Amino acid sequence: MTKPTTTNTGIPVESDNESLTAGAQGPILLHDHYLIEKLAQFNRERVPERIVHAKGAGAYGELVVTNDVSEYTKAKLFQPGARTESLVRFSTVAGEQGSPDTWRDPRGFAVKFYTEDGNYDLVGNNTPIFFIKDPIKFPDFIRSQKRLPGNGLRDHNMQWDFWTLRPETAHQVTWLMGDRGIPKTYRHMNGYGSHTYQWINAAGERFWVKYHFKTDQGIENLTQAEADRIAGADADYHRKDLWEAIERGDFPSWTLYVQVMPVAEAEGYRFNPFDLTKVWSHKDYPLIEVGKWTLNRNPANYFVDIEQAAFEPSNVVPGIGFSPDKMLLGRVFAYADAHRYRIGTNYAQLPPNRARAAEVNSYSKEGAMRYDYNDASVPVYAPNSFGGPHADPERAGDSGIWDFDPTMVRAGYVQHAEDGDFTQAGTLVREVYNDEQRDRLVDNIVGHVLGGVREPVLSRVFEYWKNVDVDLGKRVEEGVRAGLNGNGSTPPPAQG
Ligand code: NDP
Repeated sequence: MTKPTTTNTGIPVESDNESLTAGAQGPILLHDHYLIEKLAQFNRERVPERIVHAKGAGAYGELVVTNDVSEYTKAKLFQPGARTESLVRFSTVAGEQGSPDTWRDPRGFAVKFYTEDGNYDLVGNNTPIFFIKDPIKFPDFIRSQKRLPGNGLRDHNMQWDFWTLRPETAHQVTWLMGDRGIPKTYRHMNGYGSHTYQWINAAGERFWVKYHFKTDQGIENLTQAEADRIAGADADYHRKDLWEAIERGDFPSWTLYVQVMPVAEAEGYRFNPFDLTKVWSHKDYPLIEVGKWTLNRNPANYFVDIEQAAFEPSNVVPGIGFSPDKMLLGRVFAYADAHRYRIGTNYAQLPPNRARAAEVNSYSKEGAMRYDYNDASVPVYAPNSFGGPHADPERAGDSGIWDFDPTMVRAGYVQHAEDGDFTQAGTLVREVYNDEQRDRLVDNIVGHVLGGVREPVLSRVFEYWKNVDVDLGKRVEEGVRAGLNGNGSTPPPAQG
């Protein structure tokens, strides 16, 4: 027997198909409350899309710790043998909700761990670095990658204008224009915490740490031509691939590693270890295995589980803390703020965001859509004389402390011996990419620049790439000039 349709409040409705009118050709009556409810609800079905990382896909899974890293952190989720339920949301960055999954763009790699000490969120990317290193540049950077205010179009000239005026972008742009700039699927890419975090062990010793999720599926990428074809044929290619793999029981997994730097080594390290545009060389700080992270369950409802998922770098649990990475410190504010705007002040009550910790004893109360509340006997203020929860002084400094000069300044990062905007970008081009990869890098850059970059930005593009690598810069200039003269064999302008 089919179930009766009801209103939102459970009242059986009279018709699924006809509105109530005054006669067959008469006006619709305002007291057709079911029609009104249906139209009004429809008008409100969308929450604002994320200003960045709007298009995504996600799944639930589990982290199993296979190694012993307890000498570096007391965090319960990283103790030997620990198993922790997890949620991930993969995404593109600049595209909107309906944009193709295969546009050239970094990919978000946001992971939530439901630990017994509360939720721990690691909001990373599929790249170990980023375009900028100070959060004051973030709105400028994102606007330059989105759309022109007048005609609403994407604009490569605006993208390269920003990139070339902020040369700290060179490392990330070299990475983006390389093979890994378009992963084959979300399963075939690495994830990186990217920022430097702090780990604190049971003895209170502190370490700087970087996270690496290495794909067990192997890294595979799409060429620009493949990606362009798929963008037209199947805009949801990556979302579908992840869903279908998990549905057929082909659970994707990643091996989690960390790089660990003793706090005392940070000041003398050849790169500023808190600069998000730099990596720590694997040769200096080799990867240490932590565990296996596997995705094994699709969301039951995309909107509830993934669209409403709220990841926030402010969620750190005992044994893990922040660092002087300015981008991280900016994100610690910005993410929770974005969620309050996008899905409401009580977003932490929603199913994907609810803590699985034994107790949530927050003094938060009320606000739109609140349905969770403390027992009436719990006071709504602290301190109190009536047995309300109280903060644990033992946790003082647990989310990270470090030495700093207390003079107030607006300054760039302290420069270390080998810092420089182009150093690691050049290493990537000369020492990591092989000849074929360098050829594709040139093609990708040339194709992108030919997608509308004009003077005076164009000349700066050539300088930018010559600063990364002289030969690369010359090849980019030759390719672009040939394309502009109409006699080059360049690929079509790249999206993204
Ligand atoms: P290594 O030779 O030890 O490491 C190079 C790393 O580059 C590899 O381990 C791999 O990282 C990554 N890589 C390989 N192919 C590509 C590619 N086509 N596109 C992007 N990354 C690729 O040297 P270093 O650690 O000293 O780093 C040298 C350069 O490598 C850096 O300047 C940086 O650009 C890049 N890199 C470094 C990473 C790091 O954390 N040290 C991570 C990723 C890139 P993975 O094993 O993570 O796949």
